[in-house]
Amino acid sequence: MAKRVFSGMRPTGRLHLGHLAGALFNWVRFQDEYDCYYCIVDWHAMMSDYSDTSSITSNCREVLLDWLGVGLDPDRSTIFLQSHVPQHAELHLALSMIAPLGWLERCPTYKDQILNIQNKDLSTYAFLGYPVLMAADILLYKGELVPVGEDQSAHLEISREMARRFNNFFGEVFPEPQTILTKTPKVPGTDGRKMSKSYGNSINIADSPEEIWEKLRTMMTDPARERRKDPGDPDKCPVWDIHKVFNNDMEERDRLSEGCRTAGIGCIDCKKALYSHLMGILEPVQARRRSFESSEDDMIEVLRKGARKAERVAAVTISEVIRAIGFIPR
Ligand code: ADP
Repeated sequence: MAKRVFSGMRPTGRLHLGHLAGALFNWVRFQDEYDCYYCIVDWHAMMSDYSDTSSITSNCREVLLDWLGVGLDPDRSTIFLQSHVPQHAELHLALSMIAPLGWLERCPTYKDQILNIQNKDLSTYAFLGYPVLMAADILLYKGELVPVGEDQSAHLEISREMARRFNNFFGEVFPEPQTILTKTPKVPGTDGRKMSKSYGNSINIADSPEEIWEKLRTMMTDPARERRKDPGDPDKCPVWDIHKVFNNDMEERDRLSEGCRTAGIGCIDCKKALYSHLMGILEPVQARRRSFESSEDDMIEVLRKGARKAERVAAVTISEVIRAIGFIPR
């Protein structure tokens, strides 16, 4: 039997090139090898934005469209919304019974976010338990492999510990999920920092060609190259970092790099080359995206079908959990 992959994304709106290179390209490939469960974790989105849930629905829609556009295939993968499968909440409750507070309080992302995110009140019961809900998401499907970025590895460690702890108390129910760490380097945004929705520096998968060019045209380059006649250093240029991820034409890359170092080409020439590679990748993605966008019914059907399939697996896990704990079976 193919190993089971589980991964989720929070519905925060349109996805960007960082998501594409850091996660989605791999997720698409995994469909050939594994039994994949891809979940839009809308309860997690509520957790950090409970005071205003008005964009969750449209954000779920954008994420789903981006996923379908890049080639996640509802006939090969199980694509669904977390809130459509009620067993996520049930397993979260069961795991919360045995989740030691110390594990959660010590989690580095928790400490970091409580300190750094000042425009939201995150001092809630559920926010502390974020990794418990994440563990429930994965363990509900007995996910064996979890592709995550390095930023999530502390959470995944808690998922493993939760599986171990449950099994120690109640008998072997859950496999310990393993990480598949994505090797892609961080994709920088237009200001040179990590591309991230919260920095407002992202180039989105669904941006129009005009928007993409405008973002690239004004994107930061090697700061030492002030004028066209100054030689540049690609190793100090965020545009070059994006080339390295999305441009596989090595001959062209050698030419551009040489041209930059000798001031033989200007930044705009280099950006034009990158634009054409990006559009080569994004055009078919956007066309597939549009074909789903035009039919709301198709999108709803994808989610319904995914939820039905996910719930069949989830219900079996929950009955095992109930038996293991020793409750009277339903
Ligand atoms: P954002 O910072 O935009 O909110 P998330 O933290 O939700 O993005 O990203 C989800 C996953 O997408 C990450 O775990 C990581 O694997 C990948 N990812 C996001 N941004 C980037 C980036 N700039 N470069 C590489 N991978 C990224």
